[in-house]
Amino acid sequence: MNEVKNSCLGLIFDVQRYSIHDGPGIRTTVFFKGCPLKCWWCHNPEGIDSGKELMYFEYKCMHCGTCAEVCPMGAIEFDESPRVSRHLCIACGNCSAACPSDALRLVGRGYTVGELMKEIERDVLYFDNSSGGVTFSGGEPLYQHEFLLEVLKECKKMGIHRTLDTSGFAPQEVLALVADYVDLFLYDLKLIDEKEHIKYTGVSNAQIKENLRFLVNYGRAKDIILRFPVIPGINDTPDNVDDMVEFISTLKGLREIDLLPYHDVSEKYNRLDKDYKMTVHKSPSRERLMEIKRKFEDIGLYVKL
Ligand code: SF4
Ligand code: SF4
Repeated sequence: MNEVKNSCLGLIFDVQRYSIHDGPGIRTTVFFKGCPLKCWWCHNPEGIDSGKELMYFEYKCMHCGTCAEVCPMGAIEFDESPRVSRHLCIACGNCSAACPSDALRLVGRGYTVGELMKEIERDVLYFDNSSGGVTFSGGEPLYQHEFLLEVLKECKKMGIHRTLDTSGFAPQEVLALVADYVDLFLYDLKLIDEKEHIKYTGVSNAQIKENLRFLVNYGRAKDIILRFPVIPGINDTPDNVDDMVEFISTLKGLREIDLLPYHDVSEKYNRLDKDYKMTVHKSPSRERLMEIKRKFEDIGLYVKL
């Protein structure tokens, strides 16, 4: 009999099977909705808001106007193309269900723990054969920590390897609650200067640094891979890289940092009618990435690009 606790609902915006970049082996990556940070460069803007929202794919649109006809809120104005008044939309999904070409997609689906486990369990064989598992990403998975904890527990019971991809921005008691059920942390570090961090992400980094130190002191350093999204002109500056090196040097036992080069995702923001604040649209140069790589290697870290 299935003993899975089903009372708790999680809002998920994607479940990606056969991922190979979110931890070891072949993985299923579960993307949680909602994040307390608002990073200017965020590659998953559909994960920031904690509710369901519509994405419009213009290149798929047949300009038929059906979406406007079925909207119960009059939230879609149609004049050759549909325009969604976001403040009127109640995310009922009528328009996306009626759209003949999948040009409107309602992002975010509620899952019970049991439903999500069914998705995850589909690939257990692949996990076993590749030393893979499941990765919880987002958005910020800790933002829905009660649901996350229940799913982590179920995966642990089944012996599925569990990776948490996190900004580290959460109350420490929340992190402590889930830490024992996580095998590997992919832990983002973006900017060391607090004012800069607030400017570009909307929140202070004090809790993030404190939580990283907590995990290290808790004996989990070997289970952490740091992730540094390299954003030209924002955090690839000599000052920030030196500050990162200095901060990481105070944390004993960390072994790896992955550099994640920025790339332009303005198209995704357009699909959500969200502002893309980035004015730099180029990825960091290979040369700059190699310079940063050497800086981290000098303090004994394995650096993956
Ligand atoms: S999701 Fe519902 S309320 Fe929102 S635009 Fe579509 S039909 Fe209208
Ligand atoms: S129903 Fe779909 S294809 Fe038709 S106008 Fe709306 S978004 Fe475009």
